[in-house]
Amino acid sequence: MNILIAGGGIGGLTTALALHKAGFEVVVYESVRELRPLGVGINLLPHCVRVLTDLGLLKTLAGISVETSNLVYYNRQGQPYWTEPRGLAAGYKWPQFSIHRGALQMALLEIARERLGSEAIRLNRHLNRFEQDGEGVTAYFADKETGAVIETARGSLLVGADGISSAVRSQLYPDEGPPVYSQNVLYRGTTRMPPFLDGRTMAMIGSLRQKMVVYPIGPPDASGGALTNWVANLQEGASSLTERDWNRRADKARLERLYASWRFDWLDVPAMIARAQTVYEFPMSDRDPLGQWSFDRVTLLGDAAHPMYPIGSNGASQAILDGECLTTCLLKHGTNAAALMAYEADRLPATSRVVRQNRAKGPDEVMDMMEDRFPNGFTPEEIPHQELAGVMSRYKKIAGFDKESLNAKG
Ligand SMILES: Cc1cc2nc3c(=O)[nH]c(=O)nc-3n(C[C@H](O)[C@H](O)[C@H](O)COP(=O)(O)OP(=O)(O)OC[C@H]3O[C@@H](n4cnc5c(N)ncnc54)[C@H](O)[C@@H]3O)c2cc1C
Repeated sequence: MNILIAGGGIGGLTTALALHKAGFEVVVYESVRELRPLGVGINLLPHCVRVLTDLGLLKTLAGISVETSNLVYYNRQGQPYWTEPRGLAAGYKWPQFSIHRGALQMALLEIARERLGSEAIRLNRHLNRFEQDGEGVTAYFADKETGAVIETARGSLLVGADGISSAVRSQLYPDEGPPVYSQNVLYRGTTRMPPFLDGRTMAMIGSLRQKMVVYPIGPPDASGGALTNWVANLQEGASSLTERDWNRRADKARLERLYASWRFDWLDVPAMIARAQTVYEFPMSDRDPLGQWSFDRVTLLGDAAHPMYPIGSNGASQAILDGECLTTCLLKHGTNAAALMAYEADRLPATSRVVRQNRAKGPDEVMDMMEDRFPNGFTPEEIPHQELAGVMSRYKKIAGFDKESLNAKG
């Protein structure tokens, strides 16, 4: 019997590729009628690039992304206080990539179709519900628009990789309710503009009260414009935006006003916002870590299992690590409940730590630290290098990408 995966996002498609490579039969059921390159930029950290490299995807990724050179933190006056090389430049065996989420999903889709066959990636199949018995799982897939069940599938296992509003999770936890809103709203956009700094740097500016993250996700085109991703994070408090829709458009004039003074000699933030084609808004949310993901032959993966704040570049990366671990456990134990328990035993505590650490600001703790201490700027001698280094290195260990232990896996 096939392994059934609900959700053809980053986690679902990567898991399908990993399982297929390991010799399992797998079918992905994706809710939407057509997968389109939605979203803006995301980062793939070296720990998940190791997994993608093992799947033979390194060259493809390198062709559609920017290899991140440095992560630099600035205060709201544009003064840098922390610079660290990333990926290969930092001595990792694998690079870090900044990439358009949609471009990554489209590349994974194409490769999955080639390797698994197009019948194994089934669109317009929204998981409604499932049932299981000692032998397997029966899943019911509907046309999301009409609600009519159009396919019933029987599989040995069901993996819920169906994102932050997971139907698998809500069947397992019917009383859980909506995601937990963080009082912050993310405004996400892309702008084609001349590269800033070395053209490969990720810049974090401001504090968690008002922040801007900027990094390029494509090389410069013939006219010199590089597709540049940015995310403005504003502490909005109570918000009427409750529905978690990744594609909801926002008013950029308000953002331009809020960031009007953020003009630095290395980046003009208001001009970047003004030149963005579309701006999307998303209430930054996560969910409380669960005590259990695996229920006999059904388990959760990626955002369905552990939605987290997009802090520290770990959302997509952790979903990819889940896929690798699940495959390893199935190889070891077979397609059964014991494998899913082993997967949970490894990944649930690991990802819960990241969810909690991101709630506690993750590496971006340094931003509030610097703004609180030096609201009007600092002199180079005042930068608390040791303290900043402590925060950054602690986060890498928690999220599983400290250089020594990661390189030892290669
Ligand atoms: C349209 C979209 C845009 C995004 N944009 C950004 C972004 O700009 N920045 C960012 O940091 N993160 C973004 N994300 C989230 C990011 O992709 C994830 O946090 C991360 O990659 C983990 O991947 P995942 O596969 O667990 O979840 P996702 O990538 O969210 O994938 C879940 C998939 O499951 C499908 N699905 C949902 N319900 C069902 C169902 N009942 N049955 C079958 N399939 C179902 C969805 O259509 C989706 O394709 C976006 C997600 C989506 C879906």
